Amino acid sequence: MSAPNKSYDPVEVEALKPEEIERMRNEALAAFAAADSLDALHEAKVAHTGPTSPLALANREIGALPPHAKAEAGKRVGQARGAVNKALAARQAELEAERDARVLVEEAVDVTLPYDRVPAGARHPLTTLSERIEDVFVAMGYEVAEGPEAEAEWFNFDALNIGPDHPARTEHDTFFVQGADGGAQSGVVLRTHTSPVQIRSLLQRELPVYVICPGRVYRTDELDATHTPVFHQVELLAVDEGLTMADLKGTLDHMVQSLFGEGMKTRLRPNFFPFTEPSAEMDMVCYVCRGESVGNPDRPCRTCSSEGWIELGGCGMVNPRVLTACGVDPEKYSGFAFGFGIERMLMFRHHVEDMRDMVEGDVRFTRPFGMEI
Ligand SMILES: [Zn+2]
Repeated sequence: MSAPNKSYDPVEVEALKPEEIERMRNEALAAFAAADSLDALHEAKVAHTGPTSPLALANREIGALPPHAKAEAGKRVGQARGAVNKALAARQAELEAERDARVLVEEAVDVTLPYDRVPAGARHPLTTLSERIEDVFVAMGYEVAEGPEAEAEWFNFDALNIGPDHPARTEHDTFFVQGADGGAQSGVVLRTHTSPVQIRSLLQRELPVYVICPGRVYRTDELDATHTPVFHQVELLAVDEGLTMADLKGTLDHMVQSLFGEGMKTRLRPNFFPFTEPSAEMDMVCYVCRGESVGNPDRPCRTCSSEGWIELGGCGMVNPRVLTACGVDPEKYSGFAFGFGIERMLMFRHHVEDMRDMVEGDVRFTRPFGMEI
């Protein structure tokens, strides 16, 4: 019996010994079992099934064997590689399932938990009320007009028939803007009312003029429950041929009906303003009690103090001297104007009792108004 040719005996090729193949297989299976994450498994996969893994190197050795030995060694290595790949796939599936389960737990959303409250802001009620008033008049064909808040004294006073010696000029508690030299007056003031926008409108626009002028105005008042040095007005100006006090009254009634509901009406009480002649205070019927609280102690009304009327603002026919100052012929044209404070309307419309709430910027004040559509 001839001795086997040792140089071709697969048993003698170290990498192809059955126990060696078995060892490689077991090492691979142990490495896969020990991999506790998909990353670790990937490393084990490269080490035990990659092109430089022991089993892949052993596989290459098969080519060097004689034909009769190839089949046996090939079967052995093939079975080992099959078992390794199967174990790898199984561990891969296991770890992926674990990861999916973990993600489901970690990223689960408990819809019953209180949510992280990031309070959404709301538009300030002075803005929304001002826009609501503008809408009433834009629907009637009026244009919204704006002007500078730092205004020439001529626009703020003189053109409105409030001359340098007019008592109303000192009553306005005006903020004066310092001149460039720091001392002398500059002739510029922070506007004390939105009326200068009316003058600008008359100078800039073709007649007839129908404008609504909302805006911020300034007076040297201390901030308290009923005063603020910065507040908002809305003024209206109509100049056309043949306008009368009846047009003014009809416009006012339409406005309060649009803002406060059907059946609302206004009344005029004689008054004096330099820029209108005749001038009147305008009141509106109390929109809460509709006047029924007057002389009725059983039904007192907080909104109008049981007087039945709420003071709204001032109005009148545009003074011919104002028209003349703006180059408008008062013989041919006439006009009416009115104005009121938006803060005041917000106070009685929404029972805001302290004006400071409107300027302090606390979102707890503005947020409920943000619900208004
Ligand atoms: Zn009332």
